[in-house]
Amino acid sequence: MLQPRPPGPVRSDWHVHTHLSDGCASPEQVVEAAVALGLERLAITDHDCIAAHRAGRARAAARGRIEIVAGVEIDCLLEGGRIEILGLGFDPENEALGARLAEVQADRRRRFLFYCERLREAGEPADPEPWACGPSLALLKVHIYRALESAGRIYPGGYREFTARLEGLGAPPPVRTPEAAEAARLILQAGGRVLLAHPLYYHERPGLETLLRAAREFGCAGVEYLYPYDFGPRGWSRDAAAELFGRLDALLLELFPPEAERTQGTDVHEPGEWPARLDLLRDWARRLDRPLR
Ligand SMILES: [Zn+2]
Repeated sequence: MLQPRPPGPVRSDWHVHTHLSDGCASPEQVVEAAVALGLERLAITDHDCIAAHRAGRARAAARGRIEIVAGVEIDCLLEGGRIEILGLGFDPENEALGARLAEVQADRRRRFLFYCERLREAGEPADPEPWACGPSLALLKVHIYRALESAGRIYPGGYREFTARLEGLGAPPPVRTPEAAEAARLILQAGGRVLLAHPLYYHERPGLETLLRAAREFGCAGVEYLYPYDFGPRGWSRDAAAELFGRLDALLLELFPPEAERTQGTDVHEPGEWPARLDLLRDWARRLDRPLR
């Protein structure tokens, strides 16, 4: 029987975050960490924010050892559900894309302040100051969680209990989240490519096949294929994930052209996590006998 080839080193990562969204490090620190890990190509894909690109590019130019590709991860709606798409290789100065993301950022900020205020009224130590004045342009619920955590308010049931608590605080000001087709169109019009982020996360809702059909229709060039699925709140057993990869392969063959893009990304939010996540990508590549890029 043929033994899978041992995968080589990981040379690119098309999915990482900085503190300009919900990551912990600056774009410069992320680029330095990427260089130290021997990466040759990197896309910084902050949530609904492309501001890291300029600083990342400048640091990369100074180091001369890594290529930075413009990236973004956009939270969007598809048939009433939520999905995330990755935009890669677009013009980071594109005005329409920048303006639409700025709307979402402003909405997120309003929602963040609303929740902090309601939590404070309920006697919880949600001080918005350090976060509202901090570097993040995309203030997410996790920032409120961190604000509470740093003030010593720990939810025994973790993040899940925290989000349930938020639901009890009334309706926040809405976030004008784009439909997937609109977000994809903005990236395409800015000269980029669109990929469906971590597709196996949606195998139940709306379902992998529905999702991939829609993704093809709204302009996805492919999917984020190798991803450290072992991590995160929705991580499953390796056997379950391997079976889902089989379904994904079959659907990609059926619905996408043979040259469809299959990227790899670690979704790292803190550079310290990076080596372990790169090991996971290598591990998945070996188990699935897929090339690393
Ligand atoms: Zn991400």
